[in-house]
Amino acid sequence: MIRENLEQVRKNMAQACTRAGRPVDSVTLIAVSKTKPVEDIREAMSCGCTVFGENKVQELRDKTAVITEPLHWHMIGHLQTNKVKYLPGMAELIHSVDNAALAKEIEKQAAKHDLVMDVLCEVNMAAEETKFGLTPDETPAFVKSLQELPHLNVRGLMTIAPYTEDPETNRPYFRGLRELLTSINTGLPQDKQMDILSMGMTGDYMVAIEEGATMVRVGTGIFGERNYAI
Ligand SMILES: *Cc1c(COP(=O)(O)O)cnc(C)c1O
Repeated sequence: MIRENLEQVRKNMAQACTRAGRPVDSVTLIAVSKTKPVEDIREAMSCGCTVFGENKVQELRDKTAVITEPLHWHMIGHLQTNKVKYLPGMAELIHSVDNAALAKEIEKQAAKHDLVMDVLCEVNMAAEETKFGLTPDETPAFVKSLQELPHLNVRGLMTIAPYTEDPETNRPYFRGLRELLTSINTGLPQDKQMDILSMGMTGDYMVAIEEGATMVRVGTGIFGERNYAI
């Protein structure tokens, strides 16, 4: 099933790229494996997946302890400050930076490991009360503050759009995130410009690609429904 699902997702991604006049290799597929067993990840690996997203630090630790092949693991979920210490050397990109205390802790832990960590700022485009993330208005100043931290590299912006049956309703949020990135970049020197837009999930990744996503985070569409009851 995972193989067939992946074929479909990749085909849909390529078609969305073509519709948008973008090269098909301009979008990275992040296979969101949260709650899914190691066997499922191995099956996705056998189909060529190399980038995986998890939303809990403990689960990420457990899985990377068992799966030792060189993969790209991304931390995509809300992050508590006291868990940051586990991430250097384990997570290649943190998608969910949205407050100064968290940024400061990432800076501290990255410095301890003598490395620079790539991060994205999470933006709550639809102003949903249930979601984390900065308002679009706060984002430019926050990005600027991150750029002052020597062990952080702000690579771009991430958003989690509302759950919807009709992906078109999320198009304005994706377009808004792209415009926000462009407008922040306009004030930055070339070498500091952000190049990642992490947006789009199973229900809306094609629309997100049409609006400029460079990373899509797809879970259900690859691995099937998640069962949180077990
Ligand atoms: C779970 C999750 C996804 C994937 O959601 P699907 O709808 O299953 O594709 C993407 N991004 C984040 C931040 C998630 O937590």
